[in-house]
This record gives sequence, C-alpha cells and structure tokens, in this order.
Amino acid sequence: MSDTLNHQQALRYNRQVLLPGFDLEGQEKLLCANVLIMGMGGLGNPAAQYLAASGVGHLTLCDDDKVELSNLHRQILFAEGDIGQQKVQAASTRLHAINSECRITSLATRPDEKQLSELISQHQVILDCTDNLASRNLINRLCVQLQKPLVSGAAIRMEGQLFCYQPHLDCPCYQCLSSLFGEQNLSCVESGILSPVVGVIGVMQALMAVKLLAGLPVQTAQLQQFDARTGQWHTFKLSRHPDCPVCVRSSQPF
Ligand SMILES: [Zn+2]
Repeated sequence: MSDTLNHQQALRYNRQVLLPGFDLEGQEKLLCANVLIMGMGGLGNPAAQYLAASGVGHLTLCDDDKVELSNLHRQILFAEGDIGQQKVQAASTRLHAINSECRITSLATRPDEKQLSELISQHQVILDCTDNLASRNLINRLCVQLQKPLVSGAAIRMEGQLFCYQPHLDCPCYQCLSSLFGEQNLSCVESGILSPVVGVIGVMQALMAVKLLAGLPVQTAQLQQFDARTGQWHTFKLSRHPDCPVCVRSSQPF
C-alpha cells in the first residue's frame, strides 16, 4: 500500500488527521502498519473493529474457536447467523464491510511456539486478547525475545486490566506483572463477565496500538485496572521483578 493518502482516504480519515500531533503523518503510518491480534473473543472483537476503522493497513487475526451462542453477549462483531463459523472468518467478513481497504489475514489455528514466534516477528505491534495465563506468558516471552511492543488486556467479572510492554524503554514485562498475582488463572466460563467491560478494555488496547504505531507516547511500566462497579481506573506503578526469567535474563549482556 502507498505511504501517502489518496483523496478518498484524506476524506475518510479527516477527523483523525485534524488532530495536532497525529496529522497526515500519523495516518500514513497507520496505513502502512500491521498488527497481530491473538484471540478473537470479547477483547479482540472491539480492538479489531477500531483498528480497522482507524485505518490500520493490515490486521492478522489468530483464533481457532468457532462462534457459539454464549459468545454473542460480548463479542460484538458476531451475529446470530455466524454461530458455528470460525471466529476469524466471521470477524474478517465484518471488518471487511467496515473498511474494505484493510487487509485481513485470518488464521484459524492455535500456533505452536515456533509458528507464534514467526508470526510475532512479522508484525509491528502485538495485541494479547487471549483468555488464559499460559498463552499470555508465552506471547510475552516471545515479544521480549523478539523485542516487539505488546499490549495486553484482560477482563473478568466486573474488572479489567491493561498493560503495555515497550522493548526500547527498559520496562517490566507481563511476566513481571503476572508473578505478582501468582498462578491465579480465572476464566469467563467459571467467573462470568459483564459485556461492556471487555469493550472498555478492548477499545483501550486499540487506542494503545494506534498511539504506538503513530509514534505518540504510551505510558509504560504500569498496570491500569478498571473497576466497572465504581467506574474508576486505578494505576499501579510497576518495576521489573528482580528474578523475572523473561526480561531480566534477556537484558543481560551476552
Ligand atoms: Zn519481566
């Protein structure tokens, strides 16, 4: 895709291009960008929707699940007629209807470590929209190894959390954070989730990704928690875990 906007694109993204600090350059960076979204559930849906609408040139969606009735209350790209279809396929159709210029790669697989490593290396920003700790820790480890920015989101019950790893900023990684809450590994299946909470967090992941791609500052070394009961956000400063097996080891001189 060309790295300058044509007339139609200038019209389409006008309200975004108007923003001081974003400008034409910001939009052009989005058009040339690619983002990997791991997980096309409650977080991946709104994240992908906003990234496609914002004008990100290429999205790769990775999820091996099919759409089920119990997904529909929060996975807003899917309609009743999509039940039984692969999630990435149904999402791709919907995203293409929103923005036909956004190139979508749909991967209805669960990649092994080698495949995942290859995928991550081919993308500029990685969104972790998965729903289990093992996947999150693996995605984090590969992003640290490959020095790729990672935007990690999670939501359960009436709470959400948001974390960003930026390799060039010498910040803590997701493993530093997950080691603080031990082996806790709750899922929406057992614990439940209030629908708009995943929307809040997924949209925040898209916002962070857009800012990273456009070169705008993104807060790092912090955990942002959203409490849907009170509507409040809480920010916790984080530092590297001194024994982190992922980022501390990777930053040691060879
Ligand atoms: Zn770490």
